[in-house]
Amino acid sequence: MAIIVQKFGGSSVADKDKVFNVANRVVETYKNGYDVIVVVSAQGDTTDDLLEKAAEINPNPSKREMDMLLATGEQISISLLAMAIETLGVPVISLTGWQAGFRTDSNCGSARIEKIDTTRMKEELARRKVIIVAGFQGLDKYDDITTLGRGGSDTSAVAIAAQIGAEKCEIYTDVDGVYTTDPRIVPEAKKLDEITFDEMLELASLGANVLHNRSVEIAKKYNVKLEVKSSFNKVDGTLVKEAIAMEKMLIRGVARDNDVARISVVGLPDQPGIAYKVFSKLAQEGINVDIILQSIGRNDEKDISFTVTKGHLEKALAILEGEKDVLRFKELLHREDICKISIVGSGMVNNPGVAAKMFQALYDAGINIHMISTSEIKVSVLINKDYADKAVQVVHRAFFD
Ligand code: ADP
Ligand code: ASP
Ligand code: MG
Repeated sequence: MAIIVQKFGGSSVADKDKVFNVANRVVETYKNGYDVIVVVSAQGDTTDDLLEKAAEINPNPSKREMDMLLATGEQISISLLAMAIETLGVPVISLTGWQAGFRTDSNCGSARIEKIDTTRMKEELARRKVIIVAGFQGLDKYDDITTLGRGGSDTSAVAIAAQIGAEKCEIYTDVDGVYTTDPRIVPEAKKLDEITFDEMLELASLGANVLHNRSVEIAKKYNVKLEVKSSFNKVDGTLVKEAIAMEKMLIRGVARDNDVARISVVGLPDQPGIAYKVFSKLAQEGINVDIILQSIGRNDEKDISFTVTKGHLEKALAILEGEKDVLRFKELLHREDICKISIVGSGMVNNPGVAAKMFQALYDAGINIHMISTSEIKVSVLINKDYADKAVQVVHRAFFD
């Protein structure tokens, strides 16, 4: 029998009525003759509430204990959804991530899936049971609980679909699909019927949290048929796929990422090997660096600025401070009041002037650009975070009006 994986996000299971809404949709798919594996996230704001509870007790808890705590949210929703499906008279079983066979590395808080042993899931499907799996969680080689990073239930769902050979993976959420930008910031945003894996991967990595970026990577690698759609209506969603019939769209979407901090290393000696020394040390300590800007040398000195996530800021500053004797810089500066606005689309490959159009929209709105970075299918700029919404709106208008 064909298998469908359906993932429901936190807002889709936030209360009793919503849990029953999901239960009915799942049962409908089951009664249409499919084997159904459902992945759910924690209800509503549960994960945020757990983070707050932890902060009241210890502002700097170990990552292991944090994952122990955060994984509980999903366990609540799987059991409640299974109970709702029981009332509808359909055989069902809920499984934690580890019962479903998820094994991950030990990188608590952003663990990567290493394998999924699907034996148990296959046994339950053979008994014609609907399976409800807790998203976002697994076990490492020490049998410690790990989580996959915020939004990681999407990745759990796509990984199951890839591993078990599901016919498709449906991601149900609180919007009708993937839009040209976050419809909560720009109400005129347009829903996309289709988007390529590469475009979706860029958008997700650049802050469009409608899909977890790892989920898109896995879907691309294993060519999983992926659709993003609403839990609350039955309209067609957005298909994420390898290639799509090119519409006349220069760009596919605008994304915003608030989780950015900028570090400037000022007054470095203008010598070969300096950039290597700065970034190799950061890389060794597991710090991901994003946009990099190096000034041209003057008076035998240069500056290097770059961005990291806010969570890595303190560690990065401490590492650089610790290397001050080797790097011989004059000053270390940082800013957190910034955000990154990006445009993404394969249409920009053969169309010069796309970046200029974005810069003009920002200029017309009086928004200053601190840093720029480009790749084949994206342009990102760093701006003051107070202008984030405005920037998304004006850039979106420039391309989609
Ligand atoms: P879930 O709880 O279902 O996983 P998320 O909050 O993680 O839902 O993701 C859905 C949200 O993503 C939407 O409510 C929307 O505000 C936001 N979003 C950001 N960018 C986009 C986009 N380009 N298209 C659709 N939604 C987007
Ligand atoms: N509950 C987790 C979170 O809030 C995982 C998810 O929703 O996908 O990030
Ligand atoms: Mg999500």
